[in-house]
Amino acid sequence: MDKSEWHSRDLRVAIIGSGPSGFFAAEALLNLEVSIQVDMFERLPLPYGLIRYGIAPDHPRTKSVINKFNTLGESEKFRFFGNVDIGLDISVRELQNYYDVITFSYGTNLPKNLGIPNENLNGIHPAIQFVRWYNGDPDFVDAKFDLNHENAVIIGNGNVALDVARILARNADELRETDITDYALNSLAKSMIKNIHIIGRRGPLQTSFSFKDLKELSELNGCTMIVNPEDLELNRASQEELKNPKSTYKKLNFKLFENASDNSKSEIGKNIIFHFLKSPVTIEGRNRLDTVILEKNELTGLAEAQNAIGTGSREELKCGILFSSIGYKGTRLDNIPFDEQNGVIANIDGRVVSKGKTQYGLYAMGWIQRGSNGLLGTNKRDSTRFAKFLMDDLEKISPCNHPDKTSILDLLSKRNIKSTCFSDWLKLDQIEIERGAANNKTREKFVNLAEILNCLNE
Ligand SMILES: Cc1cc2nc3c(=O)[nH]c(=O)nc-3n(C[C@H](O)[C@H](O)[C@H](O)COP(=O)(O)OP(=O)(O)OC[C@H]3O[C@@H](n4cnc5c(N)ncnc54)[C@H](O)[C@@H]3O)c2cc1C
Repeated sequence: MDKSEWHSRDLRVAIIGSGPSGFFAAEALLNLEVSIQVDMFERLPLPYGLIRYGIAPDHPRTKSVINKFNTLGESEKFRFFGNVDIGLDISVRELQNYYDVITFSYGTNLPKNLGIPNENLNGIHPAIQFVRWYNGDPDFVDAKFDLNHENAVIIGNGNVALDVARILARNADELRETDITDYALNSLAKSMIKNIHIIGRRGPLQTSFSFKDLKELSELNGCTMIVNPEDLELNRASQEELKNPKSTYKKLNFKLFENASDNSKSEIGKNIIFHFLKSPVTIEGRNRLDTVILEKNELTGLAEAQNAIGTGSREELKCGILFSSIGYKGTRLDNIPFDEQNGVIANIDGRVVSKGKTQYGLYAMGWIQRGSNGLLGTNKRDSTRFAKFLMDDLEKISPCNHPDKTSILDLLSKRNIKSTCFSDWLKLDQIEIERGAANNKTREKFVNLAEILNCLNE
């Protein structure tokens, strides 16, 4: 269709997934100088993906981005359809009848496996399940985490590992006024965990920890951060990495690790103990986890591209609970081209590609586009780029068959799908805040699907 023809009717865009990348995409679309209608589909009844179910309860400022999205959601050019699972309730092919453009922003929800023997023993959990549990994701409220042990192990050197360590290490009273779920708070208040071991396969300079989060960990009340001084002896390539003028955060992190290398284990408080250059190779235990066997690694390769290889030297670490936090993969949605190896939609800079050919009108965004890395701001940057690409591609996009705004409502009704809308969310948001205020909390979340839907029917 010619660019000017799009002005004769609204450009119809569907966004699949209501996490930050979906909302940043909606924001970028609503700022375009074309007549547009944006519909967002979300599997859960409530919006915001990992802002609501990932970001830690003691980081309320990071979550405040939802205030901006709440305003955006009230735009006449935007509709929210919660409780609609694309792929299950409506296929992507069907959606293409109703929308000229489809944007995939459904995240990466499959935790990567450790790939070692016995990793399915009781007591071993993907870190994201623990995170979703304490944050009240309806799919994980019934998960069980046995915190009646002295030693916890977290495998992985990214910010999610730091979140899990911090939530385990904090005095539960410090979380009481946050939006953490009541059941998680009760469980954490009774926790026996004293030592939290964080394991990284590479060295202290090759982590993905942000300085802000690491510093916060080093300053926790009643908790000592400990690093083995031997782990801070750098090989030549790592010394080069440290000297690189661009590696400001590495220098700052390294300083924190150096400070922690003087610390010794606290008998009274909790300890967060970093183990660098070690990989788990097997888990031991009869009916449940008892010991993780770690292999010592060394680094090889050039600066900024060093790999860890095992040395054959092994050690045992006794533990009662283990969280793996080594990233996530996305899953294929219907017939959309998928890069199985990286667990993302096949795309070049966000444009979906099949066998090297651009699929005009199909775009990917956020974690399902680039994998599970990057912060909220990274998603915003990608969404701005997407809006530019869309304008460049407009003439190559085929118009859909049913551009009428009401056609999709007919389909939902025919399928008997009880979708939620944005004003439903605003109503629940208000109730959550009020319930929270009654208990001096930021909010008391709805965590049960039936309760959410009942409340909306009242
Ligand atoms: C534990 C944790 C803590 C984090 N903390 C921070 C932080 O402090 N600061 C920061 O900047 N970043 C943080 N991040 C990173 C940030 O959350 C991500 O960058 C961001 O959420 C990625 O956004 P997304 O929209 O791609 O995916 P998601 O946020 O995962 O959103 C995807 C959405 O799609 C929905 N969906 C999935 N399948 C379907 C389907 N078939 N149909 C319809 N809807 C579907 C999901 O329910 C979800 O709502 C954190 C991440 C994690 C995991």
